[in-house]
Amino acid sequence: MKKFLAVLLATMMTVALCACGSGKEQLVMATNAEFPPYEYHEGDAIVGIDVEIAQAIADELGMELVIEDMAFDSIIMAVSTGKADMGVAGLTISEDRLESVNFSTPYTTAAQVIIVKEGSDITGPDDLVGKTVGVQLGTTGDIYAGDIEGATVERYNKGYEAVQALLQGKVDAVMIDSQPANVFVEQNEGIYVIDEAFTYEEYAIAVAKDNTELLEKINDAIAKLEESGELQAIIDKYIAAE
Ligand code: GLN
Repeated sequence: MKKFLAVLLATMMTVALCACGSGKEQLVMATNAEFPPYEYHEGDAIVGIDVEIAQAIADELGMELVIEDMAFDSIIMAVSTGKADMGVAGLTISEDRLESVNFSTPYTTAAQVIIVKEGSDITGPDDLVGKTVGVQLGTTGDIYAGDIEGATVERYNKGYEAVQALLQGKVDAVMIDSQPANVFVEQNEGIYVIDEAFTYEEYAIAVAKDNTELLEKINDAIAKLEESGELQAIIDKYIAAE
Protein backbone atom coordinates (compact mmCIF):
# COMPACT_ATOMS: atom_id res chain seq x y z
CA MET A 1 0.00 0.00 0.00
CA LYS A 2 2.81 2.34 0.91
CA LYS A 3 4.48 1.60 -2.39
CA PHE A 4 1.27 2.24 -4.25
CA LEU A 5 0.97 5.61 -2.57
CA ALA A 6 4.54 6.49 -3.42
CA VAL A 7 3.97 5.62 -7.07
CA LEU A 8 0.72 7.56 -7.11
CA LEU A 9 2.42 10.56 -5.56
CA ALA A 10 5.30 10.39 -8.02
CA THR A 11 2.86 10.20 -10.92
CA MET A 12 0.89 13.16 -9.65
CA MET A 13 4.05 15.19 -9.25
CA THR A 14 5.16 14.44 -12.80
CA VAL A 15 1.77 15.46 -14.15
CA ALA A 16 1.87 18.65 -12.11
CA LEU A 17 5.38 19.48 -13.34
CA CYS A 18 4.51 19.24 -16.99
CA ALA A 19 1.04 20.32 -17.93
CA CYS A 20 1.17 18.03 -20.94
CA GLY A 21 -1.27 15.52 -22.32
CA SER A 22 0.90 12.43 -22.22
CA GLY A 23 2.14 12.99 -18.68
CA LYS A 24 5.67 12.86 -20.05
CA GLU A 25 8.23 15.57 -19.61
CA GLN A 26 8.43 17.80 -22.68
CA LEU A 27 11.38 18.07 -25.01
CA VAL A 28 10.98 21.36 -26.86
CA MET A 29 12.54 21.52 -30.31
CA ALA A 30 13.15 24.89 -31.94
CA THR A 31 13.11 24.76 -35.73
CA ASN A 32 12.23 26.69 -38.87
CA ALA A 33 9.94 24.50 -40.96
CA GLU A 34 10.98 25.99 -44.30
CA PHE A 35 13.83 23.63 -45.04
CA PRO A 36 12.74 20.52 -46.93
CA PRO A 37 13.50 17.64 -46.64
CA TYR A 38 14.66 18.32 -43.06
CA GLU A 39 11.65 20.25 -41.77
CA TYR A 40 8.66 21.51 -43.71
CA HIS A 41 4.90 21.87 -43.52
CA GLU A 42 2.68 19.10 -44.79
CA GLY A 43 -0.90 20.22 -44.23
CA ASP A 44 -1.09 21.13 -40.55
CA ALA A 45 1.88 18.96 -39.63
CA ILE A 46 5.58 19.69 -39.54
CA VAL A 47 7.48 16.74 -40.98
CA GLY A 48 10.92 15.81 -42.26
CA ILE A 49 14.22 14.18 -41.40
CA ASP A 50 14.96 16.40 -38.39
CA VAL A 51 11.46 15.95 -37.02
CA GLU A 52 11.76 12.16 -37.22
CA ILE A 53 15.22 12.17 -35.66
CA ALA A 54 13.98 14.44 -32.86
CA GLN A 55 10.97 12.17 -32.35
CA ALA A 56 13.21 9.11 -32.16
CA ILE A 57 15.40 10.89 -29.59
CA ALA A 58 12.35 11.91 -27.55
CA ASP A 59 11.11 8.31 -27.64
CA GLU A 60 14.54 7.11 -26.54
CA LEU A 61 14.45 9.55 -23.59
CA GLY A 62 10.81 8.80 -22.76
CA MET A 63 9.87 12.41 -23.38
CA GLU A 64 7.14 14.15 -25.36
CA LEU A 65 8.42 16.05 -28.42
CA VAL A 66 7.03 19.57 -28.80
CA ILE A 67 7.90 21.53 -31.96
CA GLU A 68 8.29 25.31 -31.85
CA ASP A 69 8.40 26.75 -35.38
CA MET A 70 10.20 30.10 -35.49
CA ALA A 71 12.39 32.34 -37.66
CA PHE A 72 15.67 30.58 -38.49
CA ASP A 73 17.81 33.30 -36.98
CA SER A 74 15.93 33.03 -33.63
CA ILE A 75 16.75 29.36 -33.05
CA ILE A 76 20.20 29.67 -31.43
CA MET A 77 18.91 32.41 -29.10
CA ALA A 78 15.84 30.31 -28.16
CA VAL A 79 18.16 27.45 -27.20
CA SER A 80 20.77 29.50 -25.35
CA THR A 81 18.10 31.29 -23.29
CA GLY A 82 16.28 28.05 -22.45
CA LYS A 83 13.09 28.89 -24.37
CA ALA A 84 13.65 25.63 -26.21
CA ASP A 85 15.58 22.55 -25.09
CA MET A 86 17.22 21.89 -28.44
CA GLY A 87 17.61 23.37 -31.89
CA VAL A 88 17.05 20.86 -34.69
CA ALA A 89 17.02 22.72 -37.98
CA GLY A 90 19.68 21.45 -40.34
CA LEU A 91 22.00 23.49 -38.13
CA THR A 92 25.57 23.51 -39.30
CA ILE A 93 28.17 23.38 -36.55
CA SER A 94 30.07 26.68 -36.70
CA GLU A 95 32.64 28.45 -34.53
CA ASP A 96 30.28 31.37 -34.23
CA ARG A 97 27.37 29.32 -32.92
CA LEU A 98 29.66 27.37 -30.59
CA GLU A 99 30.14 30.60 -28.67
CA SER A 100 26.46 30.52 -27.66
CA VAL A 101 25.48 26.83 -27.65
CA ASN A 102 26.89 23.33 -27.56
CA PHE A 103 26.37 20.91 -30.43
CA SER A 104 25.62 17.19 -30.31
CA THR A 105 27.62 14.71 -32.34
CA PRO A 106 26.78 15.35 -36.02
CA TYR A 107 23.95 13.28 -37.49
CA THR A 108 24.62 14.02 -41.16
CA THR A 109 26.78 16.04 -43.53
CA ALA A 110 25.83 18.76 -45.98
CA ALA A 111 27.24 21.35 -48.36
CA GLN A 112 26.43 24.73 -49.83
CA VAL A 113 25.50 24.78 -53.50
CA ILE A 114 24.45 27.42 -56.01
CA ILE A 115 21.14 27.46 -57.86
CA VAL A 116 20.93 29.42 -61.12
CA LYS A 117 18.48 29.92 -63.98
CA GLU A 118 18.92 27.89 -67.13
CA GLY A 119 21.17 29.80 -69.52
CA SER A 120 23.09 31.51 -66.71
CA ASP A 121 26.79 32.18 -67.26
CA ILE A 122 27.53 31.34 -63.59
CA THR A 123 29.37 28.04 -63.27
CA GLY A 124 30.79 28.31 -59.75
CA PRO A 125 31.42 30.59 -56.78
CA ASP A 126 34.12 32.57 -58.64
CA ASP A 127 31.51 33.74 -61.14
CA LEU A 128 29.45 35.37 -58.39
CA VAL A 129 31.64 38.47 -58.40
CA GLY A 130 29.52 41.37 -59.58
CA LYS A 131 26.34 39.31 -59.18
CA THR A 132 23.47 39.35 -56.72
CA VAL A 133 23.11 36.25 -54.56
CA GLY A 134 19.95 35.35 -52.67
CA VAL A 135 20.31 33.57 -49.32
CA GLN A 136 18.31 32.74 -46.23
CA LEU A 137 19.03 35.20 -43.43
CA GLY A 138 21.44 33.95 -40.80
CA THR A 139 22.43 30.73 -42.55
CA THR A 140 25.89 29.52 -43.41
CA GLY A 141 25.00 30.33 -47.05
CA ASP A 142 24.48 33.94 -45.94
CA ILE A 143 27.96 33.97 -44.39
CA TYR A 144 29.73 32.33 -47.36
CA ALA A 145 28.03 34.55 -49.91
CA GLY A 146 28.97 37.58 -47.79
CA ASP A 147 32.61 36.45 -47.93
CA ILE A 148 32.69 36.64 -51.73
CA GLU A 149 34.16 40.02 -52.47
CA GLY A 150 32.27 41.90 -55.13
CA ALA A 151 29.06 39.87 -54.73
CA THR A 152 25.88 41.53 -53.47
CA VAL A 153 23.89 39.50 -50.96
CA GLU A 154 20.08 39.68 -50.75
CA ARG A 155 18.72 38.12 -47.55
CA TYR A 156 15.32 36.46 -47.30
CA ASN A 157 13.50 34.98 -44.31
CA LYS A 158 12.89 31.70 -46.12
CA GLY A 159 15.10 29.84 -48.54
CA TYR A 160 12.12 29.45 -50.83
CA GLU A 161 11.71 33.23 -51.03
CA ALA A 162 15.27 33.45 -52.34
CA VAL A 163 14.38 30.84 -54.97
CA GLN A 164 11.31 32.85 -55.99
CA ALA A 165 13.49 35.94 -56.34
CA LEU A 166 15.73 33.92 -58.66
CA LEU A 167 12.73 32.81 -60.74
CA GLN A 168 11.61 36.46 -60.98
CA GLY A 169 15.07 37.60 -62.04
CA LYS A 170 15.62 39.67 -58.89
CA VAL A 171 18.81 37.77 -58.00
CA ASP A 172 21.33 35.99 -60.23
CA ALA A 173 21.89 32.98 -57.99
CA VAL A 174 20.84 31.39 -54.70
CA MET A 175 23.28 29.93 -52.22
CA ILE A 176 21.72 27.27 -50.03
CA ASP A 177 22.23 23.81 -48.54
CA SER A 178 22.30 21.02 -51.11
CA GLN A 179 19.23 18.98 -50.13
CA PRO A 180 16.78 21.90 -49.91
CA ALA A 181 18.30 23.08 -53.22
CA ASN A 182 17.39 19.75 -54.83
CA VAL A 183 13.84 19.96 -53.51
CA PHE A 184 13.32 23.56 -54.70
CA VAL A 185 14.75 22.78 -58.15
CA GLU A 186 12.49 19.76 -58.45
CA GLN A 187 9.46 21.93 -57.64
CA ASN A 188 10.26 24.63 -60.20
CA GLU A 189 10.98 24.75 -63.92
CA GLY A 190 13.93 26.59 -65.42
CA ILE A 191 16.46 26.46 -62.60
CA TYR A 192 19.19 23.99 -61.71
CA VAL A 193 21.85 23.26 -59.11
CA ILE A 194 25.45 23.82 -60.20
CA ASP A 195 27.20 20.52 -59.83
CA GLU A 196 29.79 21.69 -57.34
CA ALA A 197 29.58 21.60 -53.56
CA PHE A 198 32.02 24.08 -52.15
CA THR A 199 31.70 23.64 -48.40
CA TYR A 200 31.72 20.65 -46.10
CA GLU A 201 29.29 21.02 -43.22
CA GLU A 202 27.99 18.87 -40.42
CA TYR A 203 24.47 19.13 -39.06
CA ALA A 204 24.05 18.68 -35.32
CA ILE A 205 21.59 19.45 -32.55
CA ALA A 206 22.13 22.65 -30.55
CA VAL A 207 21.73 22.52 -26.76
CA ALA A 208 22.21 25.24 -24.13
CA LYS A 209 25.77 25.41 -22.77
CA ASP A 210 24.64 24.69 -19.21
CA ASN A 211 22.51 21.69 -20.16
CA THR A 212 25.27 19.11 -20.49
CA GLU A 213 22.97 16.46 -19.04
CA LEU A 214 20.60 16.74 -22.00
CA LEU A 215 23.51 16.94 -24.43
CA GLU A 216 24.85 13.61 -23.15
CA LYS A 217 21.44 12.01 -23.39
CA ILE A 218 21.02 13.27 -26.96
CA ASN A 219 24.47 11.99 -27.92
CA ASP A 220 23.67 8.58 -26.44
CA ALA A 221 20.38 8.50 -28.33
CA ILE A 222 22.09 9.49 -31.61
CA ALA A 223 24.69 6.73 -31.10
CA LYS A 224 21.90 4.19 -30.59
CA LEU A 225 19.98 5.37 -33.65
CA GLU A 226 23.16 5.16 -35.69
CA GLU A 227 23.94 1.67 -34.48
CA SER A 228 20.45 0.33 -35.09
CA GLY A 229 20.37 1.78 -38.60
CA GLU A 230 17.28 3.85 -37.76
CA LEU A 231 19.07 7.14 -38.44
CA GLN A 232 20.02 6.07 -41.96
CA ALA A 233 16.53 4.68 -42.56
CA ILE A 234 15.02 8.08 -41.67
CA ILE A 235 17.41 9.87 -44.05
CA ASP A 236 16.78 7.35 -46.85
CA LYS A 237 13.05 7.82 -46.48
CA TYR A 238 13.37 11.47 -47.55
CA ILE A 239 16.46 11.48 -49.76
CA ALA A 240 16.63 9.11 -52.68
CA ALA A 241 20.01 7.41 -52.95
CA GLU A 242 22.12 8.99 -55.66
N1 GLN B 1 22.78 24.59 -42.64
C1 GLN B 1 22.50 25.97 -42.74
C2 GLN B 1 22.85 26.68 -41.46
O1 GLN B 1 23.04 26.04 -40.48
C3 GLN B 1 21.05 26.27 -43.11
C4 GLN B 1 20.04 25.75 -42.14
C5 GLN B 1 18.61 26.19 -42.41
O2 GLN B 1 18.35 27.06 -43.24
N2 GLN B 1 17.67 25.59 -41.73
O3 GLN B 1 22.92 27.88 -41.42
